[in-house]
Order: sequence, then C-alpha cells, then structure tokens
Amino acid sequence: MEIEARNRFIGIDVGGTKIMGVVADPTSGVIQVRRKAPTPKADPETLPEAIKQVVAELIEEAGRPVGLGVGVPGLVDHQGVLHYGPNVPGVLGLDMAGELRSEFGLPVVAENDATCAALAEHRLGAARGTTHAVVVNQGTGIAGGIIIGGRMYRGANGFAGEPGHMLINSGGHVCACGKTGCWEAVASGAGLANIARDVVAEGKGHRIVELAGGEAAHIRGEHVSAAMAEGDSDAAEVLDRFGWWVAEGLASLVALLDPELIVLGGGLTAINRHFISDVQERVNATVMGAAYRPEVPIVPARLGAEAGAIGAAISSRDLFLGR
Ligand SMILES: [Zn+2]
Repeated sequence: MEIEARNRFIGIDVGGTKIMGVVADPTSGVIQVRRKAPTPKADPETLPEAIKQVVAELIEEAGRPVGLGVGVPGLVDHQGVLHYGPNVPGVLGLDMAGELRSEFGLPVVAENDATCAALAEHRLGAARGTTHAVVVNQGTGIAGGIIIGGRMYRGANGFAGEPGHMLINSGGHVCACGKTGCWEAVASGAGLANIARDVVAEGKGHRIVELAGGEAAHIRGEHVSAAMAEGDSDAAEVLDRFGWWVAEGLASLVALLDPELIVLGGGLTAINRHFISDVQERVNATVMGAAYRPEVPIVPARLGAEAGAIGAAISSRDLFLGR
C-alpha cells in the first residue's frame, strides 16, 4: 500500500539473527515495503554496513523517507550510541545514529529494540490508550518497555526497561548476561529449559529428555511444549513452576509501577491456552495488598514479529516532531 510522503518513515529492527527493515506509516502501522538481511555474526564490525544496505534498498524502492529509526538489542543511550549488546558481541561503543545520519543525511534515532516494540504496542497495539502500562516480551530472553504518564520511560541513560535482569531468584540459574538469579533465567524460553533441567535432576521428565535427543543439556522450550502436548505430567509440572516464576516477576513489576495493564508478548504465551489466565490468577493472589486493589489485566501482545521495526519508525517520527 502506498504511503503519503509526509508519513513515510523507515524502521529497522536489528535482531540477533536478522535485520528487519520496513517503510511504514507510524500513524497507522501500514507497511509499504519490507526487507530482511542476516545479522553479520562472524565480523561484527560490518553491522553498520549491513544496516546501511537494508536502508539503501528500502529508499530505492519506496523513495526518500522523512526519518529513520533503528532498534538495537542492547544498551543504547539517548544519543543513539550502542554501549553493549550481548546478542551483538564485539559491537561496543558504536555511534549507530551518527553513522546512519552522515550516510543518508536524514534525521535518525537509534534506541533499544524492546523499547521500540513496546512503543508500537502502546501506540498501535494492545496497550493503546493506556497511560501507565508495562510490556513484557518473553522470547529466548525477556525484553520490556515501561509507559509512564502516557510516555515511554527510558531512564537516565536510555537503559530502562530490562525486567529480564531483575535479580529475583537469588542463587538460581545463570543468565545470558553472566549474572545469577535474573528473572529471565527462569521466566523466558531459556528459563523454561532451565526449569525442565531442574525437574530432570530430580529424576523426572523422562519424556522431555527423550524429545531432546536423550541429553538434558539439549532441552529447549519446545521440547517441554511438545511433551505437554502429549499430555506428559512432568511437562505440566515444569509449566506450572514456570508460570509461578512469570507471576513472581510480574507481581514485582505491579508493586513497583502500579500499571493499569500488562502486555505479555512472545511465543511462550501460546504454550498452553490457560497460560495467561493462570498467570493472571497468581499475580492477583501474589501482589501486595491483593484484596484491596483492582486487578491489573494481563493481555497478549497484538503486534507480531514486526513490532520492533514499526516501533523504530514511530520513534523516528516522534524525534521528527520533537516529542
Ligand atoms: Zn541477566
């Protein structure tokens, strides 16, 4: 679909495995053109070049945009400098916004990819119309975004909204970030596998190990859901413990932020059809002063895999309008 020139923005989502780019209208979420390219792993110094290539192709196809937004997985400051990203190892201190600005002569914003995805859910998705909301996305890890007073909360440095690394399980599993006890080590896809291995270490979960090829070390989230689909009771126990940890973290977020809504995204919410309602019940029961406060509804995310790219385009338009 053709987009009016004044609403034409480019959004780029840099993931651990692929770079996804769109030409989109940030006011409606309509996407005119899509491009994908693999994230260069072997030679991280070529990441800016790979992004520039995607942007150049989008411009060639759709024409010059008003602005450009890039979502990057890691700690991105208010100036658009990527300080550190565990999924883009070797890329440190990269002035992402500056490089793209000088290459294309466009207004450029670069920020955390999960912040972009949350921005999209707030403007166009499940959190639309809310003033105070939390977006939690469960993938391999946990990503998030916090909306306070109708605006995305980015923190002092731009690093806010990393609920996956809240330390809520002291002495627990080792996280991808290297620390022990992070929420995402028990409440993400990786966390689901960690809990399954705990159950196996207790002498249970034989079917899950079988599905993982006979090695507990090879268990991934999908092996648990496959065993669950077969009606395996140990897999049900894994999911039960997993749901408990998800609820613990969400209850902490409710205590801290008092949101009107929590958006839960990522593939794990589909793991069983009662998952969100089970977590909702546990959060309702766990949260401080449970009997004396309204329920905080937990709802599934509405935008799919393109949320990050659309959100980057939204962020770019915000910058252009001076918001
Ligand atoms: Zn961590």
